[in-house]
Amino acid sequence: SELPGDPETKNSLRQVHNSFYSWVRPTPTGTDPYLICHSSEMASTLGLDKSEIERPEFALLFSGNATTPSIGSKSYAQCYGGHQFGSWAGQLGDGRAISLGQTTGADGNVWELQLKGAGKTPYSRMADGRAVLRSSIREFVGSEAMFHLGISTTRALSLVGTGQQVMRDMFYSGDVKMEPGAVVCRVSPCWVRFGTFQLPASRGDVQLLMVQHLADYVIRHHYPHLEGADDKYLGFLREVTQRTARTVAGWQCVGFVHGVLNTDNMSILGETIDYGPYGWLERFDPNFTPNTTDFSHRRYAYQQQPQIGLWNLIQLANAMARADLVEPKPAEGVLEGYVDTLRDHHKKWMSKKLGLKDMDEKLQQGFMVAMAETKADFTNAFRALAAVSGSQPDDDIPEALQEAVAEQTYESKATWTAWLTSYRAQLRKEGRPEPQRVQEMNAANPCYVPRNHLLQACIEAAEKGDYSELDAFMAVLCKPYEEQAGAEKYRKVAPSIKPRLGVECLS
Ligand code: AMP
Ligand code: MG
Ligand code: MG
Repeated sequence: SELPGDPETKNSLRQVHNSFYSWVRPTPTGTDPYLICHSSEMASTLGLDKSEIERPEFALLFSGNATTPSIGSKSYAQCYGGHQFGSWAGQLGDGRAISLGQTTGADGNVWELQLKGAGKTPYSRMADGRAVLRSSIREFVGSEAMFHLGISTTRALSLVGTGQQVMRDMFYSGDVKMEPGAVVCRVSPCWVRFGTFQLPASRGDVQLLMVQHLADYVIRHHYPHLEGADDKYLGFLREVTQRTARTVAGWQCVGFVHGVLNTDNMSILGETIDYGPYGWLERFDPNFTPNTTDFSHRRYAYQQQPQIGLWNLIQLANAMARADLVEPKPAEGVLEGYVDTLRDHHKKWMSKKLGLKDMDEKLQQGFMVAMAETKADFTNAFRALAAVSGSQPDDDIPEALQEAVAEQTYESKATWTAWLTSYRAQLRKEGRPEPQRVQEMNAANPCYVPRNHLLQACIEAAEKGDYSELDAFMAVLCKPYEEQAGAEKYRKVAPSIKPRLGVECLS
């Protein structure tokens, strides 16, 4: 194996051993970078104001075109591996993410700022270290939307166009095309993944010690309350398990499908990380995945996500067990808690979505089946439930619910009438005051999510240099639970004439 490289002299592709990272500097594009958009919410958390972000120096620095030592930063890329689609894949990254460093925000928390697409690292394998505008818009919008939906996620501060053209080989069409390049500045307290633990564990010997060093580091900085606890590593595994379970439960409740739940895409903080070929459910199909490379196996489809979360946690626990940080038996016990935490969180949120005090599993299941049978839009159908009340006749299907359903047929009406009959009976039984119930439901059922066809419209306009669609969409997604004037078009389901577009991994 080779020694860690000096970024001044050496940035070659290599297997990096005995190290969690390599110093690496962004590769300037030598073009004129320009700010496309930023998250004002994230900026104020960091203590940055608009004028600082709109300065030309910002676009230079946040596209990797300014030297980082000028801000007292030494940038680096992390070394991690992971399981991809269930198979061990060895060293994987960071192939195109370079951390600028950490900063203490206006909120007093320590945040790590990372550029995605700022050039090659020793971990870039066969790829170019760049990101295209299309995928960068998806990352920016997806992560900020997720934050505003109230689900734990990595964040995005800025989206900067580099002015450079990037070549992409479109696998499915066989075309090669040039696309505008862009860099997203991602923000999180920590970018350590499950795969960061797995890589040294897989390499054995002295590198097993590294697993312990890493666990100690992560606990010291991100789980400090566990320091000095008797069984701190087991406690750490328990907390990662609980956080992951809560995040996955959140995805299920807002209809988010990650698309690439490989272990290198699982954050040690339990945050949603790596917004690639993700999608939000529209016409409900529990087997939906947006990822074209997973169309045959559907390993990462909507309904698989809870069990995939556990599978990934088992891989993390295996890495820790190999390094003797946890014993297999107690680790198993901790992992068993995953299902309970996920169920508990899911049940709490679902009962709010349905407006029920006491969650009724049969009603919830029945709702999902009715949505699947009638191809109802997941987001709109849940939101429409607030229009149902116990005093309406059983065959009254509120207009909003009718609109959420693909086709009004005799069967679909019968399906909904049957379900609404039991639902209304439950509402009458609970007898909660209407306004309170409706308010709670509206706070749990978003009106606006990043639907793929809307994202696609933003991308197409942005590729022509028009960012107004993107700005308007972001403004709506920042208040997903509030009905906004003039925002009707953002609640529209994708036209069903064409088969739904998939998203290629290639980004
Ligand atoms: P993903 O499936 O998106 O998690 O990607 C797996 C790994 O491939 C990550 O570690 C990325 O850093 C790396 N990667 C993806 N695209 C590129 C690229 N264009 N250049 C370099 N590395 C990449
Ligand atoms: Mg990734
Ligand atoms: Mg990715």
